[in-house]
Amino acid sequence: FSKRDAKFVLSATKPEHYKRIPPNPEVTFAGRSNVGKSSLLSAVLRSQGLVKTSKKPGHTSALNFFSLTSGSCPGAISLVDMPGYGYRSRDEWGGFIMKYLSTRKELRRVFLLIEAKVGELKATDLSFLELAEQYKAPVQIVLTKTDKMKRADLDSICKTITQSATDIAPSVVQPTVICCSSRTKIGIDDLQLELLRVCDL
Ligand code: GDP
Repeated sequence: FSKRDAKFVLSATKPEHYKRIPPNPEVTFAGRSNVGKSSLLSAVLRSQGLVKTSKKPGHTSALNFFSLTSGSCPGAISLVDMPGYGYRSRDEWGGFIMKYLSTRKELRRVFLLIEAKVGELKATDLSFLELAEQYKAPVQIVLTKTDKMKRADLDSICKTITQSATDIAPSVVQPTVICCSSRTKIGIDDLQLELLRVCDL
């Protein structure tokens, strides 16, 4: 992508806000607050300013929709930045995410961000995976901030996390984990390619 290929579309706090968005192939980024989601999205979209929008007051507890086009390919992708788990009460967050997962027919993949150094899934990640399993939303684990880890430790973390994610959401968790660092840019190309592939671009 280049900067001009990505546009901010809208910030949604209820389904009425996003139900008229055209049914383009859609991918979503989810994860705990501070997991490195804004930095990763800025790297993926190659645009710092766009993603800052999601950090403005009033936007942090919303689903932020972006539209992406790639080179000469016709058509667009919707990219959705989900609110970090910390911004709403658990019940409110669950209801909001449930509505989203149950209504987006074009949802091709949820990239679930986990900070590599944390090394395990936390309760909020597990709740999210349960919902994804219930609504059959394909989930791919993305380990973030991998520059803080040694390669050997990263391999064992990938295995542990994939195993626990698969235990809780066996029909939706993808077997491959993408390891990324927004700081070194490792893995960003892999993530972009995967995103385009699942959206048939
Ligand atoms: P968000 O709350 O999930 O949107 O997380 P941010 O993108 O704001 O990042 C949270 C903190 O982690 C910030 O202090 C970032 O500088 C730091 N951070 C983000 N990505 C990386 C990374 O790839 N490597 C390292 N070492 N730190 C990162």
